[in-house]
Amino acid sequence: MRLASSETSPGEPSVAPRRDELLSAIDHLVSRAATHDQKFALLVLNLLEFREFNIHFGHQQGDFLLREVVRCIQEVLRPDDRVFHIGGDEFAVLLSDLKAVQVVPLAMERILDAVESGKYLAEGIPAVSLRAGGAIFPDHAGSRDELLCAADNALYAARKSRRRYSIYDSSLHAQNQQRIQMRKDLAASLEKDRLLFHYQPQIDLREKRIKGCEALIRWPHETQGWINPEIFIAAAEESALIEDLTFWSLNVVLREWAQLAENMPGNSIAINLSATLLNSREIVDMVERALNIWNLPPASLTLEVTESAMMSDPQAALDTLNALNELHINLSIDDFGTGYSSLAYMKHLPTRELKIDKSFVMNMMNNPKDQSIVQSVIDLAHNLNMQVVAEGIENQATLDLLVDMGCDTGQGYFISRPLPLEGAKAFLNGFPYGAVDKS
Ligand code: C2E
Ligand code: MG
Ligand code: MG
Repeated sequence: MRLASSETSPGEPSVAPRRDELLSAIDHLVSRAATHDQKFALLVLNLLEFREFNIHFGHQQGDFLLREVVRCIQEVLRPDDRVFHIGGDEFAVLLSDLKAVQVVPLAMERILDAVESGKYLAEGIPAVSLRAGGAIFPDHAGSRDELLCAADNALYAARKSRRRYSIYDSSLHAQNQQRIQMRKDLAASLEKDRLLFHYQPQIDLREKRIKGCEALIRWPHETQGWINPEIFIAAAEESALIEDLTFWSLNVVLREWAQLAENMPGNSIAINLSATLLNSREIVDMVERALNIWNLPPASLTLEVTESAMMSDPQAALDTLNALNELHINLSIDDFGTGYSSLAYMKHLPTRELKIDKSFVMNMMNNPKDQSIVQSVIDLAHNLNMQVVAEGIENQATLDLLVDMGCDTGQGYFISRPLPLEGAKAFLNGFPYGAVDKS
């Protein structure tokens, strides 16, 4: 498909990254700010889903899009303001000689509205979205590097909170420092083997027998106690630490599962897979190596991935999931119902299981809408030849209703909380005389 002419004509903005030019322009404004008592703002902008655009339309059209975004931003700037493509899907804007800091959010909105409305873009270019972060000199920074860092912090905050843009404030700096410290502490704990796994049993709701467990990571921090896994996993995901953590996790869990499930062939262990790992094939080798080391059949491993994990780069996620599927492990969609995946995308996935998010299950006894959602997900999964797991079962009534609704597998505090290794061993050996046999 040809969207529009992708040839560069004289006078058109170049697609070559201009990071060095941006740095000298900031240096120039920093020295002017000192002598003329002026303020200026740096905005950094990130084009979303540019990789998909390139895959879909080709790199030539990708370059064309970058030029069009630069042109479009220039259209809405004052003559002295400047825009730079600084590499990949990133742009920067310098708003010079600010008369009032209040103009910064207004300028950001104007830029985002212009690009996202598509009205300045050439005909045929599909709508694109941006995230932006802004910082003001000298209010937020005392040097060029601090300014770049402050604008990046603001962009990070906008992306994390799914806001279109964010402007730096000092709490962002504190949060950033905390995340960096948490990553350092986590790397040290990993090195010293201080992390561990708890195992939460899953049962076959029809036959009332154990089907397996979900492995849930635990980190007893030396001074802060147990840290919520969602928080420290997110911190690890921002660096290569997530790869070390995942490789370590696969090996620990498979080693422990080899002991736990010794007398229970056919049961499987579910491990949560971090979102960022779906963008590369490295995870496929990691899984294959770990299964070989611990001599476990691929069918004994389930990898849980969330819908939102797949959505950051749907094509790359699909490729990785297909490669994992070729190893004959099971794949499960976790927290189903809380993400944004489309049914059109889902039908291509090689996943064999849906886990209904606990927020629907926990409320279904007193919320008819949640109950309808649970029933619809069960029907949808079965129609797609998938199994359904309900997590978050907290009482007998919910368990009984899920059995009546045709749900295949159950997990939740009513059956058992996540248990340390020894407790899980005792629970699995004691079943069916464990907690669920209350009816
Ligand atoms: P998840 O995979 O959806 O895990 C289920 C979470 O629900 C667990 O929280 C579990 O303790 C909790 N849960 C289970 N049954 C019930 C119930 O009946 N009621 C309530 N209120 N909660 C229940 P946990 O262990 O805090 O884990 C939170 C999230 O952290 C997990 O959500 C998963 O996304 C992530 N996570 C945990 N372990 C790992 C890991 O090893 N690797 C990765 N990448 N993520 C992990
Ligand atoms: Mg899970
Ligand atoms: Mg879940």
